[in-house]
Amino acid sequence: MKNYLTATISASALRHNITVLRALIAPGVKLCPVVKDDCYGHGLNIIYHVLAEHVDGFAVASPVAALRLREMGWEGFVLCFLSAYFDDYEVQDELVRKNVTHTVMSMSALSCIQSAAKRVGRRALVHLKVDTGMGRLGVPSSQARDMIKSIRSVPEVELTGIYTHFASADEADRSSVAEQLVQFHSVVDGCEGLTLHAAGSAAMIDFPESHFDMVRPGIAVYGCHPSGNLVRPTQLRPCMSVFAKLIAVKHLPKGSCCGYGLTHCFKRDSRVAVVPIGYGDGYFRALSGKAVVRINGAAAPVCGRVSMDQMTVDVTDIPEVHVGDKVEIISADPLAPNSVENLARLADTIPYEITCHLGHNIRQSLAD
Ligand SMILES: *Cc1c(COP(=O)(O)O)cnc(C)c1O
Repeated sequence: MKNYLTATISASALRHNITVLRALIAPGVKLCPVVKDDCYGHGLNIIYHVLAEHVDGFAVASPVAALRLREMGWEGFVLCFLSAYFDDYEVQDELVRKNVTHTVMSMSALSCIQSAAKRVGRRALVHLKVDTGMGRLGVPSSQARDMIKSIRSVPEVELTGIYTHFASADEADRSSVAEQLVQFHSVVDGCEGLTLHAAGSAAMIDFPESHFDMVRPGIAVYGCHPSGNLVRPTQLRPCMSVFAKLIAVKHLPKGSCCGYGLTHCFKRDSRVAVVPIGYGDGYFRALSGKAVVRINGAAAPVCGRVSMDQMTVDVTDIPEVHVGDKVEIISADPLAPNSVENLARLADTIPYEITCHLGHNIRQSLAD
C-alpha cells in the first residue's frame, strides 16, 4: 500500500445514508447493513463504530467476518450468509458460542450446524435461505416447508428467520421481483414470530412491499445506487473519495504518444502529469482513455493506458499544475465525472466492483 494514496471515508456521509435509508422503512423494520467484503472496500475497522451506533444488526458473508464483529464488541444480531462447512471446528464452534445467526440452505448445512451446537452444548441460531428464483444459494421454495420442519425437529438448532434474495431488483426489467415475492409469500405466510427479510438496496428503495421485518442494504449504505435503473433514486452521499499527489509533470510535443501500446498520441503540444495509481491499486485498466481525474477542481482526462502502478493524465488545459499537487481520483460528489457511479459506467461494471477493488488496495482513513 502506498502512503501517498488514500481512500478517505466520510463518517457524515455514512450517517446521512443511514438516515435516508431509515426513512424508507416503517418504524418496526430492522436495518441490517451488509458489511461483506470489508464493507465493500470501505474498511470495517474504520467505519464499524459509525455504523454500530445506528443499526439493528449486521450481515456478513464469511464466518470469520462475523467473528471479527464480535471481537470489535458488537453484541447484537449478526447474520452470516455463507456456511462454515469448510472452516475449522474452532471457527464453527465459535460461531455458535458467539450467537452468530447461521444460514441454513441445505440439509448438509443443517447437520454441520447441529454438530457444532452439540460440541459447544448450546443452541445455534439459524435463518433459512429460500431460493425463490435467483438460482444461487437457498432451498427451492417448493422444498422450504419441509426444510422448516426438518430444522424444527433438531433440538440443538433454533429457527429465528427466513429470507430470500432478489435477482433483478436493479435491472431495467424487474418483473421477476413480483414473481419472487409470490414464491416467498407461499413459504412464509403463516410463519409468525420469525424475522422475514428479502430486500437489498434496490428492493429496499424501489419495492416497499419487499421490506418485511428487516432490510439488508449494502451499496446504498456506502452511498451508491446499485444501478441507474431505480425508479425512486434517493439522495445518497458516496462515502469514498480517493486522493493522491502528482509525481511528475512534463511537456510532450505535438505528435508524441504516451503509455503502453502508444495508444494515445497528442494532436498539440501538451502537458502530461503522472498519477501514482494503476490497476494494481484497484484502478480499472478499462478506464484507460475514458475516465478523468480532477486537479484543482478541473478535469484531466486519463490519456493512454493505465499501467500497474501509475497512469498519465492530460493537464494541458489546466494552468499551474505542479509535482506534489493533490489529485482527486474518485470524487464523493455523485455528479462529478469521477464519481464511483460514473466510473463504473465507463468501465462497464457496477459501483460495487469499483469500491471493492480500490478499498482492498488503498489505505482507508476516516474523515468527518
Ligand atoms: C450483497 C447482498 C445484499 C446487499 O446487496 P446490495 O445490492 O449491496 O444492497 C443483500 N443480501 C444478500 C444475500 C447479499 O448477498
